[in-house]
Amino acid sequence: MKRRDVLTAAGALALTGCASKVSECQSSEAGEQFNWKMVTSWPPNLPGLGTGATKLAEHIEAASGGRIRIKVFAAGELVPAFEVFGTVSEGTAEIGHSAAYYWRGKTEAAQFFTAIPFGMNVMEMNAWLYYGGGLELYRELYEPFNLIPFPAGNTGIQMGGWFNREINTLADLKGLKMRIPGLGGEVLRRAGGTPVALAGSEIFTALQTGSIDAAEWNGPYNDLTFGLHKAARYYYYPGWHEPGPVLECIINRDAWAKLPADLQTIVEIACGALNDKMTAEYAARNAQNLQVIKQDGKVAIRKFPDEVLSELRRITVEVYDELAAEDQKVAKILESFSTFKKTIGEWTEISQQAYLNTRNL
Ligand code: CA
Repeated sequence: MKRRDVLTAAGALALTGCASKVSECQSSEAGEQFNWKMVTSWPPNLPGLGTGATKLAEHIEAASGGRIRIKVFAAGELVPAFEVFGTVSEGTAEIGHSAAYYWRGKTEAAQFFTAIPFGMNVMEMNAWLYYGGGLELYRELYEPFNLIPFPAGNTGIQMGGWFNREINTLADLKGLKMRIPGLGGEVLRRAGGTPVALAGSEIFTALQTGSIDAAEWNGPYNDLTFGLHKAARYYYYPGWHEPGPVLECIINRDAWAKLPADLQTIVEIACGALNDKMTAEYAARNAQNLQVIKQDGKVAIRKFPDEVLSELRRITVEVYDELAAEDQKVAKILESFSTFKKTIGEWTEISQQAYLNTRNL
């Protein structure tokens, strides 16, 4: 190599920010290097949600040959859990992993893209988002916030929660102090209960000391992380309030626009892969952890009485209608959501539901 060529090569390496070895630098030579920050709403290494966000960052980095590097921050490390939306919106971080229903204070309609009471299950949510116009509405809703959302995970249906009181009739909800966020909490309030906002890590002590009577968190997988089966007598199902909660990856639009098309494709595919894989993870781990709870033998696993569920459903429809009357964006999204839910519900009934009803005959 002539001296001039060596200097040119060294200059190119310096420009791409690589170490002196060409081998460490090959990926960067293929294009510009992007160093992103990812903020999340999850405690460090929380199984499923937290580990899923970390995997997403790792997959994007590996698939891009290191052209996108992402440093992941758990809740509280860079910003608190509920500041993820604003932080990515203003570009302090380029990417975030969270759940849309935390942003109902910014825009009420956001919660339709995670889960709403008596809404759609994981399969139906994905069908609506990818093939029923849901994702277009999701993107339209986030555009004024300078964000692009991607579905990026799902817990599947959650449990109804942990109770230290038996629920036999609607009257048993009266005066019930329960940790339950969002629209589910509003429905409980109208049924006579008192919804309480608590971070996941605070639930165990609150249940154990009796400062609350009940709490929902997720399902067996994440509930055992906090030892909730040691703090309550009854574990009720189904999770009427969160039938198939979608997790989201949000990306700052300016950061997104700087990515070449191949890297945009990699990010989009990585989000889709996490969306599938987390769903499978929760199904497997919830099933395994349910066995742990059963073998422990100290908790009674109960189904909510039909009368209670049908009353909660009636109240839920009231809440939807009021929200739609107050907010045009809610009205538009609710229309799409409800129409799709009705259509796919007819298919679910004669496919999944009919099959599952016969499988255990
Ligand atoms: Ca929950």
